[in-house]
Amino acid sequence: FKAKEQRGSLHFFSDDLTLAVHHRMQLEQRLRRALEHDELCLYYQPQWSIDGSRMTGVEALVRWQDPEKGLISPAEFIPVAEQSALISQIGSWVLRSACEQIARWLVQGIQVPRVAVNVSPQQLHHHHLPQEVASILQQTHIPPTLLELELTESALMSPGVEAVEMLNALRVLGVSLAIDDFGTGYSSLAYLKRFPLNMLKIDKSFTDDLLASDEAKAIVETVVMLGHKLGLSVLAEGVEDERQRVELERLGCHQFQGYLKSRPLPATELEALLVNREI
Ligand code: C2E
Ligand code: MG
Ligand code: MG
Ligand code: MG
Repeated sequence: FKAKEQRGSLHFFSDDLTLAVHHRMQLEQRLRRALEHDELCLYYQPQWSIDGSRMTGVEALVRWQDPEKGLISPAEFIPVAEQSALISQIGSWVLRSACEQIARWLVQGIQVPRVAVNVSPQQLHHHHLPQEVASILQQTHIPPTLLELELTESALMSPGVEAVEMLNALRVLGVSLAIDDFGTGYSSLAYLKRFPLNMLKIDKSFTDDLLASDEAKAIVETVVMLGHKLGLSVLAEGVEDERQRVELERLGCHQFQGYLKSRPLPATELEALLVNREI
């Protein structure tokens, strides 16, 4: 709050707050329209075996193609959507669109790798997520093994979320489960053991610090060891530098994702990669 002296009397303003609220409400309204007008689209970022020789999967990342403002990053609108009911609609849209894309690729005879979809914390608060996934799988006729869901630690630890039951129900469907941004949230190793997971994704912040900080290196090393012991695949996010990749390989990390090898790509560009790959 700002206090301003005006004609002798003291007025309290909350310009910044009003602006922020206004901006958020405006964004929310535009986003609602964007959903109706089909302005969201998915980009796909390849994931690689740690030596870079094999594409192990792709992560679907939502984008907003605004007719006026161009391509808007999810970092800008997902947090806003998360504070409203919109996130459920966006989440459903992303899930369905990714599965429909997989189905189209399969029809075209393209060898489709596993596709990971981000699930927001709010989506876990609806007990029907496994049902929703089940019905989308049924409608699109895709093999469940081609779908992976990325969840965050904090979402799984959130009060009111029956995480173990939900994850079990999802695994029964045959989909894979990954923990996103691992190491940044509220972690509980005890819980980790009870969750039926397939993959840990080491957050980009640790990859960033890997070469400069012994602490970051120790954390990565420990997560890799944990993954080995629990039978989980470990993927490092945000690898931009060949030296980072080499160090991750030395530490026993299984997979990576990052600008070093590929940025998130529009579906058609990923398609070209998939068609031309040798495996
Ligand atoms: P995330 O799930 O951790 O996704 C990784 C983000 O890091 C992506 O940003 C990706 O483009 C970026 N990234 C990957 N490799 C590199 C790299 O080498 N260098 C750098 N600087 N960045 C890299 P993006 O697409 O902007 O997504 C940001 C976040 O937005 C995601 O983080 C995720 O939390 C959220 N998000 C994206 N799509 C969805 C979605 O469909 N649903 C939900 N709920 N959240 C989403
Ligand atoms: Mg993710
Ligand atoms: Mg991540
Ligand atoms: Mg992240």
